[in-house]
Amino acid sequence: MNQSEDRCAGGIQYTLTRRKVRNINLRVRGDGSVAVSAPLRVDTARVDAFVAGHAGWVQRSRRLMLGRAEAEANTPLPSLAEVQARMIQLCQRYFPLFAATCPGGRMPRIRVKEMHTRWGSCSLRTGTLCFARRLGAMPAEAQEYVVVHEFCHFAHPNHGPAFWAAVGEILPDYARRRKLLQP
Ligand SMILES: [Zn+2]
Repeated sequence: MNQSEDRCAGGIQYTLTRRKVRNINLRVRGDGSVAVSAPLRVDTARVDAFVAGHAGWVQRSRRLMLGRAEAEANTPLPSLAEVQARMIQLCQRYFPLFAATCPGGRMPRIRVKEMHTRWGSCSLRTGTLCFARRLGAMPAEAQEYVVVHEFCHFAHPNHGPAFWAAVGEILPDYARRRKLLQP
């Protein structure tokens, strides 16, 4: 089990977790809290110095996130029907590439619902692709990535190398698009 410890350095409160990592990693979470992972053997004083040295960067990231959270709060989420129409349109555009692997060779049923822990899901049994309503507020490039991702699950139910190869064949820049969905 990894051990976590709350610390403060350079005016920055952070949670330090020791892991089998090579470098000290610093991350500002969506809520503004700071998480640091450090190799087991590195001195805590060195980790503190690292965090203190990045204090300016942490403050800038927090301001950026705050701005983003405010912008999101001010932009109402499109309605379920609007998002559904958008996702159907996108899925119809990509369907021809996947017709051979879709159940029955038919266009899947498209559903949109409130999902907070994932952006989409794929049911092989019912031939349904399901998307999170909040995807409607994301850039088109990110929406396309989720559509391709879920379509690829018809042929590859897991996230193995063959799955990612299939995604990459259609969207060579999928890694960049995927990042757009990260908080
Ligand atoms: Zn997946």
